[in-house]
Amino acid sequence: ATTYGIRDWGNGYFDISAKGEVVVNLTDGKKTRPISLPDIVRGMKERGMQLPVLIRFGDLLRRRIEELNEGFANAIAEAQYRGVYRGVYPIKVNQQQEVIEDVTEFGRKYHYGLEAGSKPELIAALAYMQDPQAYIVCNGYKDEEFIDLALQAQKMGLQVILVLEMPSELDLILERSKILGVEPALGVRIRLFTEGGGHWCESGGEKSVFGLNIAQVMDAVDKLRDRNMLHCLRMLHYHQGSQIPSISAIRNAAVEAARVYVGLVQEGAKMGILDLGGGLAISYDGLKGNSASSADYGMREYCADVIEAISEITDEAGVPHPDLITESGRAVVAYYSVLVINVLDINRYEPSGINKLPARSPALVKNLFELRKLTRSRTQKVTSALVREVYNDAVYYRDKIRSEFSSGNISLRQRSMGEEFYWEVLTWVATHSKTAELSPEQEERLAGIKTDYYYGNFSLFQSLPDSWAIDQMFPVMPIHRLKEEPTRAVVLSDITCDSDGKMDKFVHSQEFHNTLPLHDIKIDDEYMLGIFLVGAYQETLGDLHNLLGDTNVVSVKIENGKLKYLRELEGDTVSEVLTYVEYEPKDLARRFRVLAEGAVSKKLITAKERREIVDSYEEGLRGYTYFES
Ligand code: PLP
Repeated sequence: ATTYGIRDWGNGYFDISAKGEVVVNLTDGKKTRPISLPDIVRGMKERGMQLPVLIRFGDLLRRRIEELNEGFANAIAEAQYRGVYRGVYPIKVNQQQEVIEDVTEFGRKYHYGLEAGSKPELIAALAYMQDPQAYIVCNGYKDEEFIDLALQAQKMGLQVILVLEMPSELDLILERSKILGVEPALGVRIRLFTEGGGHWCESGGEKSVFGLNIAQVMDAVDKLRDRNMLHCLRMLHYHQGSQIPSISAIRNAAVEAARVYVGLVQEGAKMGILDLGGGLAISYDGLKGNSASSADYGMREYCADVIEAISEITDEAGVPHPDLITESGRAVVAYYSVLVINVLDINRYEPSGINKLPARSPALVKNLFELRKLTRSRTQKVTSALVREVYNDAVYYRDKIRSEFSSGNISLRQRSMGEEFYWEVLTWVATHSKTAELSPEQEERLAGIKTDYYYGNFSLFQSLPDSWAIDQMFPVMPIHRLKEEPTRAVVLSDITCDSDGKMDKFVHSQEFHNTLPLHDIKIDDEYMLGIFLVGAYQETLGDLHNLLGDTNVVSVKIENGKLKYLRELEGDTVSEVLTYVEYEPKDLARRFRVLAEGAVSKKLITAKERREIVDSYEEGLRGYTYFES
């Protein structure tokens, strides 16, 4: 049966069990056990939590942090590199408290630090990061308060690096450090000319809005030297962009940055640290090709190649190997969470069952009726010429019917009959399309005919904003019934009333004309889909389109063979999302009661009905923003 490429994008964390269910492989002591996602959802429902739900696996986060740190440790050992790796996790990629708590706990043994890109992120970081050997890298534009906080933390023994993103920041930092009596640890962010490629390449490179150009870097060096503070310049930083698809682009950037690093040491700066930013990509589509959704390299190759590039350049110049920082976010947290949604409804054409035309039906409708009869005939020989002719005729008659309808010559019911015959005829054409050698345009139209719309209980804008905003691909698949072959071709719609709220591009779906193969379902079936690799960026970029709020969240782990639900966070209630947009729930309820009172006075409803109506309004305010069953 269809496996949806799970072995290609699941990275060994996700797989399909013999029962035909998606499993997540979680560590239990020294063992790894496959845990069924439908079982997790069943247990969750018994505890009173509804779909949609975001399930977080702390174990996967721990394993990603280990893979990254061990990857660098191995590459360093193999290359006899003389610096150390001290990565930082960029808070913006998933700022949830639970993530920061887990990252700092799992990363402790590696002195894994944090990257803060704003004042609130630094404030969060300082509450969780107390390791004097780990770095806190401060990027982003900084005001006096931000700078003071960083300097004071440094005074208390933390390694906080203030990265210059703009030339003007230097004066303010020097002034504040003088007042507070603490020497700053400075970094400088440069704009590389090497481009990264992929969706996010413009956050790096010369076109980037962040960072200093080389002349501005030299000005900063001169200014520091003039004040006898060049020893404060400790780090060179660059960020090429996120999800860089090609290892050669990564290598080229590391080479360029290493040259700049060497130049700064030769200028007399103390340096010691090179920060490569983010960009380490994962495979969302399971392809290892050079697509924006995947990478042509893995974590091990990434570590080995940057170590090699940097040691080559620094060795050549006789400059000591710098300690390395990377700010990988996506590669660390993407696997961590899975969104599970239920399908609420489906929309598809069904055969009409009209076997006799009403008298005085228009000729165009009759023609389509006859065409349908022909496609049902068992004696008719199906040739490619016939299929093409049937296709062309059907499209012609249907278009004519529509224009006659607009001119008022065909009734609504007659048009409806015509549309149904057209659909049936084209469905027949679709089953013979292989013989007919149709044009890509015609194939596309046929694919549309065969497409069902499944309505999932979620908001694309809230839970998968990158799918909407930049066509980012996420793996989607049923989490059960995987021993059965799916028979429907589906476009997945969300429950916002926005026509953009749909997914119509899927991993491996080119062969299915951008539809997702799913199982046929009856409306009472509980049919559940998993949307995977949503741990990076999606949670907080999401918005309140149609006032659909945060989903429920559970975190699970496995201990001694038993599934444990660690945290259960209820998603937003209706009254919470309304307060986000400045409504006052009490005032809303009061206004509604006035409306209901009025209806009683006008004798439109009884006093008893008023009570029931007001109760259900107030119940609605307390409820989940998603479809409740
Ligand atoms: N560092 C900086 C400065 C960034 O802007 C970003 C995100 O774009 C990252 C790190 C994280 O990048 P990634 O998630 O690709 O690892």
